[in-house]
Amino acid sequence: MINFKEKELIVIKIGSNILTTKDKKPDLNNLRDLVNQISYIKKCNKNIVVVSSGAIAYGTEGLGVVPKSISEKQAAAAIGQVILMENYQNLFAREGLKIAQVLLTKDALLDATRAEYAKNTFNTLLDRGIIPIVNENDTVAVEEIKFSDNDNLSSMVSVLLQADLQIFLSDIDGLYDLDPRVHKDAQLIRKLTQVSDEMIEKISESVSAVSRGGMKSKVQSAKYLLENHIDVIIASGRQSNVLIDLYNGVECGTRFMGESCNV
Ligand code: GLU
Repeated sequence: MINFKEKELIVIKIGSNILTTKDKKPDLNNLRDLVNQISYIKKCNKNIVVVSSGAIAYGTEGLGVVPKSISEKQAAAAIGQVILMENYQNLFAREGLKIAQVLLTKDALLDATRAEYAKNTFNTLLDRGIIPIVNENDTVAVEEIKFSDNDNLSSMVSVLLQADLQIFLSDIDGLYDLDPRVHKDAQLIRKLTQVSDEMIEKISESVSAVSRGGMKSKVQSAKYLLENHIDVIIASGRQSNVLIDLYNGVECGTRFMGESCNV
């Protein structure tokens, strides 16, 4: 069992797909719902870091074209990051909570000195009760210095801060034994204590068949996090009350936990 209430530092990664509607517009209702749940947990004396995607999606309307090239995506992210943070700030302020924006790149976290600067910034914010909201600094993140996705960025932040728990919220309930869109009898895997390369390979095949990109990088991240003694939960950020349920020990999503845990 992952006892959420015993965890002190929780990193929550929120994917673009749960912050946008089907027609790719900002889904402010779901954002508000997630902020309310995070606020509840924060007020239970937990330290929380949010890693949020959504900048490109939130900036698309302002850009005026659907971004296709890397520079258009970077431009959309530059517009949308402000809109995203403005929404987070207003919603958390209603709960009496303060936030900070932290933009990172892979090369910064791979450099020991710069990683130390980042860690000190996070710790100072957390000590003051402020919720850091992290995204990739898309303006300077081209392929060679880009995190493959924000799942990877979130994992590196968890390891940097030695978090106790990493939660990935997306529009998928968790990891299934078979692709649920192809196999009606696919079963949600409730818990895993280890992740093998074969398991990751199998996911990539089922994902590419139905364009469900995302699960492979989450399970790859889970492997890296388990190796660093950090428990992981993959759950749906569209399931009503998902974070509060997880906090209260309700079984949702897929839990990855170290072998020493009492499962
Ligand atoms: N940094 C990108 C954004 O905020 C997201 C990258 C991702 O979704 O993995 O739109």
